[in-house]
Amino acid sequence: MLSLDSKLDTVTAAFAPNKIVEGWTGLYMDDPSARVRLSHSTFELLHGCERKFQKTKLLVNDRARDESPATVFGKSIGAAWQHYFLLRSMGHSVKDSLDSSLYIAWLEYFPILEDDKRFQERAAMVMIRSVDFLESMLLDWEIAYFNGKPANELGFNLNIDPKYYLVGYIDLVVKHRRSGRYAIVDIKTTSMRGEDLTPAYKFSDQCLGYSIVLDKIAGGDLAEYDVTYWVCQLPGTKGELYLPNNKEYTFPKTLKDRFDWFLKVYLDVNYIKGLENLDAYPKRGSNCQAWNKICMFFNECQFTAGDSPALYIPDTIEYDFTYELGDILQEHMERLRAA
Ligand code: SF4
Repeated sequence: MLSLDSKLDTVTAAFAPNKIVEGWTGLYMDDPSARVRLSHSTFELLHGCERKFQKTKLLVNDRARDESPATVFGKSIGAAWQHYFLLRSMGHSVKDSLDSSLYIAWLEYFPILEDDKRFQERAAMVMIRSVDFLESMLLDWEIAYFNGKPANELGFNLNIDPKYYLVGYIDLVVKHRRSGRYAIVDIKTTSMRGEDLTPAYKFSDQCLGYSIVLDKIAGGDLAEYDVTYWVCQLPGTKGELYLPNNKEYTFPKTLKDRFDWFLKVYLDVNYIKGLENLDAYPKRGSNCQAWNKICMFFNECQFTAGDSPALYIPDTIEYDFTYELGDILQEHMERLRAA
């Protein structure tokens, strides 16, 4: 599975004198023509702490991506579930699909970061114990097709202005077998407690923006659609270590919901521009320690004199869909007026 915050602009300038950095054109992130790639997780970063956003996206940062046992475990399960659903949709047997998904789970478990709750063996066992859940998803949902190919891991690029753009990858696009409604699937792994996690996902907006691709996939202007979170909830008790509590949380959404999401992106990017113009990136102390983890910049955060811009590596990825925010806003306003 591709990661949205992989090291496009976090290649350290400290390495530059000694290494030829692939793709580097000689520009730094403070050059006016350097583009800034944003994603759902970038906005979460921004809302958590502006200084962390700056350190991660704009400045030299020779640390690896902010991975942890939880993120690696989630990546492994997400890739394995997605792979299983895809193979079963293509007609492969349960056994072959599971074998292949276990291999994917192992492959994606990288870097190998483990603790007493998240480790490779548990990821494999959780995948095995998730087959019943995934089979029940296959009874309700069929995979959608785009350009003759199953709609999984589709990438889109939303140009916000000449400098900023937003990218996203969609785990799966599916169609309900009985209602015919299309849905964006996001696969989540969580250790949150509670029988009902509806509040954690109902107003999550990640899939809202991703739903822009549905018009092209469904071949029409969809006014209503679903977002569905397939959640692998990990129990905390030792005896149930290998027994995930898998659940589906599906929510209906409208064109207006999606329009509001685009407006939010517009406002967030204007905020980033404001920070850039003022060269001010506030420190949010409340986020220096979260989920029992200390921010990786904690020991250097205050030393702004040492800040230097990251190398700018242009994005050469070919996305499945490209949109312009101005056009999208205009088009959605017209559709809402006509509704
Ligand atoms: S140490 Fe705290 S203030 Fe500094 S970047 Fe991290 S979260 Fe922000």
